[in-house]
Amino acid sequence: MALLRDWGPRHERDGLKPVEVIEVPLWSEAEAWEYVRARISFHKAAQGDVPPPICTPEERWATPTSFAVMKKGRQSALKVCDSESAAQDWIAANKKGEWVEKHPGQNKRCESYCAFGKQGFCPYQ
Ligand code: SF4
Repeated sequence: MALLRDWGPRHERDGLKPVEVIEVPLWSEAEAWEYVRARISFHKAAQGDVPPPICTPEERWATPTSFAVMKKGRQSALKVCDSESAAQDWIAANKKGEWVEKHPGQNKRCESYCAFGKQGFCPYQ
């Protein structure tokens, strides 16, 4: 059950209710064992200074770096692009925007939630 604390009219327009039920698929026992065995094999393969592979972007809750086209007197972006060149091209094509602001990507799970990383055990942090 998710309680949307910042719920308001714009969320209602998108079809969201103040309280939403989110389906969480339950793994079968076979899927759970497959996952656990894969994790154990990563750790067994890690030897000496070679750590297990870094978690996937999905596991790290990674968001990509983005490039926002900005304009004086406005706080929000006119356009958000995947690359600086795409943002510059958009400015040239639309004759709008004054500068491009880089918004670095984040690994939200690593930074705020993963106990392994927060305790200093993760070699990638
Ligand atoms: S901090 Fe946690 S989630 Fe991030 S890479 Fe390390 S183990 Fe994975």
